Order: sequence, then structure tokens, then C-alpha cells
Amino acid sequence: MAWEFETDPDFAEQLAWIDAFVREEVEPLDLILQSPFDVDHPLNRRFVRPLQAQVKARGLWACHLGPELGGPGYGQVKLALMNEILGRSVFAPTVFGCQAPDSGNAEILAVYGTQAQKDRYLQPLLANDIVSCFSMTEPQGGADPTTFTARAERRDDHWVLNGEKWFATNARYASFFLVMAVTDPEAPPHRRLSVFIIPKDAPGLEIVRNVGYGDRDPAHAYLRFTEVAVPLDHMLGGQGDGFVVAQVRLGGGRIHHAMRTIGKARQAFDMLCDRALARISRGEPLASKQMVQEKIADSWIELEQFRLLVLRTAWKIDREKDYNRVRGDISAVKAAMPKVLHDIAARAVYIHGCLGLSNETPLAAMVLDSFQVGLADGPTDVHKVTLAKQLLRGRKHSQGLFPDYHVPTRRAAALARYGLSGDEAGLKAAIA
Ligand SMILES: Cc1cc2nc3c(=O)[nH]c(=O)nc-3n(C[C@H](O)[C@H](O)[C@H](O)COP(=O)(O)OP(=O)(O)OC[C@H]3O[C@@H](n4cnc5c(N)ncnc54)[C@H](O)[C@@H]3O)c2cc1C
Repeated sequence: MAWEFETDPDFAEQLAWIDAFVREEVEPLDLILQSPFDVDHPLNRRFVRPLQAQVKARGLWACHLGPELGGPGYGQVKLALMNEILGRSVFAPTVFGCQAPDSGNAEILAVYGTQAQKDRYLQPLLANDIVSCFSMTEPQGGADPTTFTARAERRDDHWVLNGEKWFATNARYASFFLVMAVTDPEAPPHRRLSVFIIPKDAPGLEIVRNVGYGDRDPAHAYLRFTEVAVPLDHMLGGQGDGFVVAQVRLGGGRIHHAMRTIGKARQAFDMLCDRALARISRGEPLASKQMVQEKIADSWIELEQFRLLVLRTAWKIDREKDYNRVRGDISAVKAAMPKVLHDIAARAVYIHGCLGLSNETPLAAMVLDSFQVGLADGPTDVHKVTLAKQLLRGRKHSQGLFPDYHVPTRRAAALARYGLSGDEAGLKAAIA
């Protein structure tokens, strides 16, 4: 099979349009509006809606979805090329109808939702008339879902939820929450949880407080559920299917974050280069100093390596048509992402001196964001473990006292194969 690094001309034209549109029309909104998830805010309605209409007219709305859900079904490679542009702007994913966590929530509603659930929640979500929240993490544990205790019990014709959730992004704007809760405490660990659709106004659902990170908008909620009752048809997927359902949204979510992170890291790289050329120190631009040149070269190499890994993973997903079959590659991308963003943004901060550390460039916030992409959707450590397990699965290993690649053992076998004696005299005799 051929290896291809070119974009087909029709799509290249779309990308050029997206690039100019994001730069000229969307990036300015990042500087004046608060949150893309505050869909009812009058300024969002005034400025974001007309841009969304242009994206729809261009056939670029919700590109992560297939035609049955109103997207063009581009596949992951095209999505990667597009998302690396959208990653430059906070508002761009919303303008293009592919913002997390709604994109992943829409995917699982599409796959597991009943017709009634789709009509009530999926359709307005796809239109960005409402936004949603996915709530899995609990205060006592995030990386290990087997520690979750929020409980859903069946009482007559209702499920009743009790417990607490933590760092639920966009809860304050969400019209509904997808919540993982324990339904089967005695089942094997990965069959204990189920997913529920909880409307925002369900009695007993409380936002204890909203939490931010660094000086970021406090967009992540500490939630409490006290006797929250929902009808039986508010379960998404089957009882005990929580892990399976979550994996569908997390697979896509992780690779899409990685695609957007390429865009953000490239912004940091561009700022690094700009400052290196523009700043004069001791009579020459910073760009003339070898230690600065090393920072530029290392940053470019890391960014391009990462981009290729993301694109190859996207290509594999398109071929396999199943996130689970590409799980190791997705974990590799997820584990690589925070370091690439961190290292490039940190070099750019440093080269900018105190300006870089200030809140007058986006660079210091990008360093903080690198920790966010390392934690959200599972910490790097856990993804490395997943990858290593997959890489080792099914591998045969040496059985002898010395490994199969032990040089003296292999040499003895090679000599025996050619009927040679191993000493110098024997080799000379063979030549004669
Ligand atoms: C910006 C942001 C947004 C988020 N949004 C959401 C959301 O919308 N919904 C939601 O449910 N959650 C959300 N989260 C929570 C996120 O999923 C958790 O932070 C993550 O799963 C880790 O859980 P924790 O923070 O409790 O850390 P812990 O589970 O306590 O882990 C802390 C650290 O311990 C180490 N560690 C943990 N397990 C292992 C292991 N197996 N091997 C080696 N080391 C390990 C790692 O270094 C890890 O970083 C969000 C997080 C962030 C930062």
C-alpha cells in the first residue's frame, strides 16, 4: 500500500477556507466572549450563530459525524487536518459543531440512545441549541473507576441516584448530564456501572461549587446527587454497560483533543520563532544564539513527530472503523500529547522572558493546559500502562538461560549451520 502525505485538492481548498475563516472571524471572539458553552448568552447568540450558519452552508458542520446525523462523515484523517486548525481557537470547535464534551456525548447518544432519547437530547445537542456534561470522576478517585461509589438504585419505576461527582466540565451550562453510577455493586468491577441521562433540573441535583484551574474560568463542577429520581428509560445503554459506553466517547475524544493540541502547540512554536527573530540581545537576534536554535529545532521535531503519530492513528481508525481496535495507538497519542504541548510552550515562555510568563500572551496558560490534556480523559501514566500491556500481549519470549539474541549462542549456531569451527585456525582452513 502506498504511503500518502498529500491532501486531496478539494479538501485542501476547504482547509484553506477554514484556516482563513478561523483566523479572521473566530479567533477575535476568543478575546471578547466568555464561554462557547454559554449558548444562551445574548453575545454568543449574536456573534456565534451567524458563523455557525456559514460553516453549515459550506458543509463543514459536525464533521465528526456521519450523514445520518447531519455531518459529512469525513473520517478521522480529514478531521485531524481540520481540527489542527480549530485547536488554535477556544470558540472554533463550537462554531464548527464539534466541541467536546458534546461531540463525544452525541456519539454515545447516537450509538446507544433509544429513539425517544435521541429526539429529546441528541437533536438539540447536534444543533448546539443546548450543551451537555459527562460526569464520571468522583472526589475520591478519577483514574480508577472501580473506586466510584455514586449509586443508582431501582425503586419501582424509577432509578434513584445518590452520591457525588467531581470536575464535571460545563455542568453549569448543561441541559443534561450523562452520569456514570454503580447499579450492580456485586458484579465484576467492569460491569458495576451504568450511564444515566439526568436533566439539569432534576430535583436533588446540586452544583456544590464550580472549580477552575490556574486562573481559568471555573468551568468544572463539584456535583451532589441526593435522591435524584429519573424514569427507567433514562438509562443510556444496558445495565452494567457503563465502561463500554464510556469507551466509545473516550476513544474519539482523546484523538480529537490530540488533533487540536497540534494546533495549539504550533501556535506556541510560531510565537517562539517570532520572538527569536524579533528580540535583540547583545547586538544580535536571539535566533542567532545556538541554545535558542536548539529550542527551535527540538520543538519542530517534536511537533512533527507528534503530528505524524496523530495522523497515522487517525488513518488506522478510518481503516479499522473501531476505536477499540486502535486503543493502543490512541493511548500512545494521549500519552505523548501533554509533553509535546508542555515542552514547546515552556520553551516559548522562556524565550519571551517575563512577557512569556505574564498573562499578556497565551503562553503561560498553554503550559497549564498541557497538564489538563495530561489528566482529562485519564492520566498519562494509565495510558502508558495500556499501551505497554498491548505491546507485550501475545509476544513470545526467550526460554533459555540466556536470551535468544545472546551473541555467543547465536554465533555458535551460525558456525554449526555452516559446518565451521569457531577458532581462527578453523576459519582460515575454511577459506583455504
Ligand atoms: C480540565 C479537566 C476537565 C475534566 N473534565 C471532566 C469531566 O467533564 N468529567 C469527568 O468525569 N471528569 C473530568 N475530569 C477529571 C479527569 O478525568 C481526572 O482528572 C482523571 O481521570 C484523573 O483522576 P484524578 O484527578 O482523580 O486523579 P487520580 O486518579 O487521583 O490520579 C492522580 C495521579 O496519580 C497517578 N496515577 C493514577 N493512576 C495511576 C496508575 N494506574 N498508574 C500510575 N500512576 C497512576 C497519575 O500520576 C495521576 O495523575 C477533568 C479533568 C480536568 C483536568
